Amino acid sequence: VLQAVRVRKRFGDHQALDGVDLSVEEGEVVVVIGPSGSGKSTLVRCLHQLTPIDGGAMYLDGELLGHAVHRGHLRPLSEAAITKQRRRMGMVFQQFHLFPHWTVLRNLTEAPVRVHGVAPAAARDRALALLERVGLGERANAYPRQLSGGQQQRVAIARALATDPRIMFFDEPTSALDPELVDEVLAVMRDLARSGMTMVVVTHEMAFAREVADRCVFMDRGRIVETGPPAQIFGAPRSPRLRAFLSRFT
Ligand code: ATP
Ligand code: MG
Repeated sequence: VLQAVRVRKRFGDHQALDGVDLSVEEGEVVVVIGPSGSGKSTLVRCLHQLTPIDGGAMYLDGELLGHAVHRGHLRPLSEAAITKQRRRMGMVFQQFHLFPHWTVLRNLTEAPVRVHGVAPAAARDRALALLERVGLGERANAYPRQLSGGQQQRVAIARALATDPRIMFFDEPTSALDPELVDEVLAVMRDLARSGMTMVVVTHEMAFAREVADRCVFMDRGRIVETGPPAQIFGAPRSPRLRAFLSRFT
């Protein structure tokens, strides 16, 4: 579904991504772990095309992201064309970013109706089904401020799903939540993973990573240092840096 090839990103004199190769297969759940500042958010922001890359290439279903080949040269795509590509991907952030003056239902139907041209009645049916799926079927007419953080994040997940993305990115979706609200959000993500959604998840929830990931990726200093199934990453880590990182969680 998704390929990143030698992706590089620099902020000033800081190399945030230093040649990252990542390939995500259909239905695969890839969990990205690593210390603060290692480039995890930068990686998903680049994949989602919120941040332009300086080098390398990314492909979604084989289509080059962000650039087009024109007479043998790479040309950056227009903002409009990039936005169009981005609409095939869903993103859930640490902060929920719901529109506060819209109901939950409208938060879910707005993009499908206005941007994807879905008929309002169909968008509404689909939104209600998605709200049911994240356990919020009863709260369609509530406003975000009337919901807990965990409920708002579940709405944000449903909203990202409303446009039928090929892949979902999560950047520390539970880090802003009170501890007692974390599990309800992880449960929704676990269900989504089981349903076959292709996912890239940045998280510090190691138990979730162990249980749900098909593959874990350990990043440090802008590079992928080690990648493998959870049993290897958590049970038999090879690199000293990963071992040092994991020792902080036990
Ligand atoms: P955390 O676990 O704290 O979220 P992270 O792994 O997500 O960390 P990034 O946010 O990707 O790390 O940041 C990687 C590096 O790039 C950091 O040194 C950060 O300061 C730098 N960086 C990220 N975004 C920017 C930006 N917009 N401008 C300048 N530097 C940035
Ligand atoms: Mg981050």
